[in-house]
Amino acid sequence: MIFSPKTKNKKAMKEFSNRYVRQIVLPNFGMASQRKLLKSSVLIVGMGGLGCPASLYLAGAGVGKIGIADPEKVEESNLHRQVLFDTNCCGKSKVKEALKRLRALNPDILVEDYCTSVTKENVLSLIEEYDVVIDGTDNFSTKYLLNDATFKAGKPLVLGSVFAYEGYISVFNYSSGPCYRCLFPTPPTSYIPNCEEMGVIGAVTGIVGSIQAFEAIKVILNSPPFLPLAGKYLQINTLTMGWHEYKVEKDPKCLLCSKKREEVELTEFRAPSCLATSEVREITTKELFKDINKYVLIDVREKEEWQERHLLGALNVPLSQIEGGSFNSIPKERPIVLYCSLGIRSKKAGNILIEKDYREVYSLKGGLSAVMQNGYKDLVR
Ligand SMILES: [Zn+2]
Repeated sequence: MIFSPKTKNKKAMKEFSNRYVRQIVLPNFGMASQRKLLKSSVLIVGMGGLGCPASLYLAGAGVGKIGIADPEKVEESNLHRQVLFDTNCCGKSKVKEALKRLRALNPDILVEDYCTSVTKENVLSLIEEYDVVIDGTDNFSTKYLLNDATFKAGKPLVLGSVFAYEGYISVFNYSSGPCYRCLFPTPPTSYIPNCEEMGVIGAVTGIVGSIQAFEAIKVILNSPPFLPLAGKYLQINTLTMGWHEYKVEKDPKCLLCSKKREEVELTEFRAPSCLATSEVREITTKELFKDINKYVLIDVREKEEWQERHLLGALNVPLSQIEGGSFNSIPKERPIVLYCSLGIRSKKAGNILIEKDYREVYSLKGGLSAVMQNGYKDLVR
């Protein structure tokens, strides 16, 4: 029996209230598709310019469970593209603010928040509960990790990225199709700036994030005419509005997907930084105290010096101990600020930690002396 749009509307309203009526009446969509969406789950890694629009559209469409993972806080410079957040969100956890907004948008669905970076240790347990993974990150390290982990777990990955005015989208690991490494076998060896450094127009990330949301919907519906962008790599030039699709073949010699899933070992690589690779970055006292709760403070001076005075909340892990390889008490998943008296020992300690795969390490410029000189004496015990 063919329903007229009016009959469809009535039936849809009976089962789903008014919320999804406008998509249910679409040709080829219908209530069966709506039920599929409500039973499905999508994990979005990175709640930035891509993750924000993607999550809004998926919540609106009625994807039954949406996971959102991001360890960062909202900053004012995020607001022009990260459309989930407003000025009042600045300084607050991205996933917590996103959770409130998505639940308010659609109280019928489940939203799970993960205030964490995705690492090789936690990625498999994170993606385990979801049908589809959306990559909303802006770093190659996480993109390759997500590619490898979704292949290992047998889950499709909707990958998106933006570089200046261009956007790139593809669906990898779908129906035994190619993976990201079939196209780009290894991460770039030269430094490539991210959105923060290169600059980006909010509307461009909006285009890419919206396409990612619909690709995830197509993966879930998984029947014609909903054919995901698998085996193709879409490049959009938003200046010329030229769209180009490149065919992506599965590479029989692929470093990843030519292996058996159970043989895959997850690795993380450190993306080349704009600084010399072994060089720790410096942070000023002003930058540190603007958002001090974001960081784990490590005092790398010797114990006697620490006892004399130290920054409130700091842990003492002396440089001599770090040089001896004993620094397990320093967490890897949070940004670290190392300090000493003048900022010399902390640089040395920072370079050691970077070599040991600590991803976000800073050395406090000028050390404790700068803290005292710049009027932050109250923060010293
Ligand atoms: Zn591959």
